[in-house]
Amino acid sequence: MSTLRFHAIKESLAHTSKLVLDNDRRSELFGQNVFNEQTMRQYLTKDAFEGVMNAIWHGKKIERSIADQVASSMKDWALSKGVTHYTHWFQPLTGATAEKHDAFFETSNSGLSIEKFEGSQLVQQEPDASSFPSGGIRNTFEARGYTAWDPTSPAFIYGTTLCIPTIFVAYTGEALDYKTPLLRALHAVDDAATAVCKYFDKNVRKVTSSLGWEQEYFLVDKLLASSRPDIILTGRTLLGHSSAKGQQLDDHYFGSIPSRALNFMRDLENECMLLGIPVKTRHNEVAPNQFELAPIFEEANLAVDHNSLLMDIMGRVASRHHFKVLLHEKPFAGVNGSGKHNNWSLSTDTGVNLLAPGKTPMSNLQFLTFFVNTIKAVHEHEALLRAAVASAGNDHRLGANEAPPAIISVFIGEQLSQVLEELEGVTKGKLSPQEKTELKLNVVGKIPDVLLDNTDRNRTSPFAFTGNKFEFRAVGSTANCGNPMTVLNTIVAKQLIEFKVEVDKLIDKKGLKKDEAIFNVLREYIKSCRAILFEGNGYDEAWRVEAEKRGLSNNKTTPEALKAKVAPSTIKLFEEMKVMSEVESRARYEIEVEAYILHIQIESRVLGDIARNHVVPTAVKYQNILIENVKGLKEIFDKKFVEVSREQLNLIEEISQHIAGINANVTKMIEERKKANTQSDIEKKAHDYCFNVKSIFDDIRYHCDKLELLVDDELWPLTKYRELLFTR
Ligand code: ADP
Ligand code: MG
Repeated sequence: MSTLRFHAIKESLAHTSKLVLDNDRRSELFGQNVFNEQTMRQYLTKDAFEGVMNAIWHGKKIERSIADQVASSMKDWALSKGVTHYTHWFQPLTGATAEKHDAFFETSNSGLSIEKFEGSQLVQQEPDASSFPSGGIRNTFEARGYTAWDPTSPAFIYGTTLCIPTIFVAYTGEALDYKTPLLRALHAVDDAATAVCKYFDKNVRKVTSSLGWEQEYFLVDKLLASSRPDIILTGRTLLGHSSAKGQQLDDHYFGSIPSRALNFMRDLENECMLLGIPVKTRHNEVAPNQFELAPIFEEANLAVDHNSLLMDIMGRVASRHHFKVLLHEKPFAGVNGSGKHNNWSLSTDTGVNLLAPGKTPMSNLQFLTFFVNTIKAVHEHEALLRAAVASAGNDHRLGANEAPPAIISVFIGEQLSQVLEELEGVTKGKLSPQEKTELKLNVVGKIPDVLLDNTDRNRTSPFAFTGNKFEFRAVGSTANCGNPMTVLNTIVAKQLIEFKVEVDKLIDKKGLKKDEAIFNVLREYIKSCRAILFEGNGYDEAWRVEAEKRGLSNNKTTPEALKAKVAPSTIKLFEEMKVMSEVESRARYEIEVEAYILHIQIESRVLGDIARNHVVPTAVKYQNILIENVKGLKEIFDKKFVEVSREQLNLIEEISQHIAGINANVTKMIEERKKANTQSDIEKKAHDYCFNVKSIFDDIRYHCDKLELLVDDELWPLTKYRELLFTR
């Protein structure tokens, strides 16, 4: 009997979780462990408070004396909560979060010990960061990297450590993390959008980008997960026959949440509350044991930090409930994968959501301006947007038969399609008074009522307008949202700058009124970006054909998709918008290609190992039992034995065929891997891993999964899909 699997199943059935929360009143818990505005008011002097607020709202530099005051107050606050250590918390390009804890405790010359934390320690640190990916920017023996305080994201306490959100850059100034380019992109979109807002309201001083992410994930019993080498090493199952029951009955989606999972969620939400992560909704997802958690949207930089923090604490909380969290985009073949929808909008410091229709024709013209410019930005940079969500894991969704497709398109709904059509018909140049009235009354003026019944939500669209925000659905569940958010905000910033230049030109050179100029530019934009608008079903083969005709890219794999990151137009875009230098763009590209190669390489090794060392020996063992059985039957039945052992003989033969299939394909895969490894050019190497190595996975899996159906259940060593997916 296969001991590990059955041991794990037996133990997992006994797993229950109890949860006693001292206090679960959210309003009382919220932000308790965050050095937020409220706490700062309490702990900081007026000068220090204003210094930090100026940094947050106007990007002003914090003086050294102020930093000393902030550090000292932060320390007092943290000590009052039993904290002993502090760390600069950052998001290197490994995709995980990083921290190195230092104690506040120090000894002085006279031998006395004190708790110390100064401005210099708050503002900058030099972690030994030589093993974080830099894409060749920083050689290990060369200059080191340093972390620098990001005052726009508040410090928080996790466990007994004070965590200070920081950026991570090389000594030469290049970004080595997700946060640095994001902050630059947010700055760019703020400048560009504020300038455009002035057409409509002179009082606007700042535009903030908002992000509301929706995190999907699977929960699997921890012991069952540990019994599968593929889950442990790759985060997903590389083989396993589908369960007789999967998601076909649709009985999990929005159904009642199983109690152990519910306890995990309540525990997790409790932690989130303390950390100021405003989680709001929880529900079951489509696949069995798949769930989703979403917060109230926040300023984008803070939201990205909160999502990174969440992914980290999810694993720790899950352990307490004997669960393992699978964040992988496709942990199980044949059931839904996981994504992380990024809901995005822009809003002003005067409290207006620029992507929500307003109450007056003028505010609606403002809405349409931002709406059309976003669509235009996506149209111009669709390939880059696809690249921003490319990863080995996400290829299982975007490139495969799962929504959304790898083709980026924008869904806006019937009513807004109608509005755009009417705008497309606006007269060139000056508008007659009648046309203006008509536009204000019947086109721009009508938007608020029509949008209310815009319930048609196309679930297969990668980029959909959902009433007051755009929803970027192609983001993978493991992604750091900093990557897609940097791209989206940068392309919109660039687009808004161009828009303003064109509108101003019509006003200055052609003597058009402001609204006439805006209508004129929007009309041309709508005409030029028709190709990106698509309301139909993204699954359809017909759409693939149509998209190709429209000139949209369809990069199904990461190596193909990533190339857009170093296209000359991308390098120029990021340089112009001061988001990334050419060196930074190229370094990131290299890091991501490298990460792809490593992922596939590890999966390939694990798959080869499981197939040869777990599956084949088990099949042989079972085959031997059958052979013994046939020999016995022959002894008893003599001539009649062929008839009575027909089934066994067939099985013996079938098993041999599958074993041969596995061996041939594993050998082929190893050969291809060796060949790929000799490539010195990483682009070629990634290509080989994708098209020559990974392409064999399915053949190996096919034979293994067939054997799973043939071999005695008692012998099978790998925990099966039905056990992984239905144990609660
Ligand atoms: P869904 O139907 O896709 O589940 P919801 O309406 O529940 O969408 O919203 C999902 C996410 O969108 C939530 O995180 C929510 O906070 C966020 N969201 C709502 N309004 C905005 C906005 N204006 N900007 C950014 N995110 C928003
Ligand atoms: Mg959504």
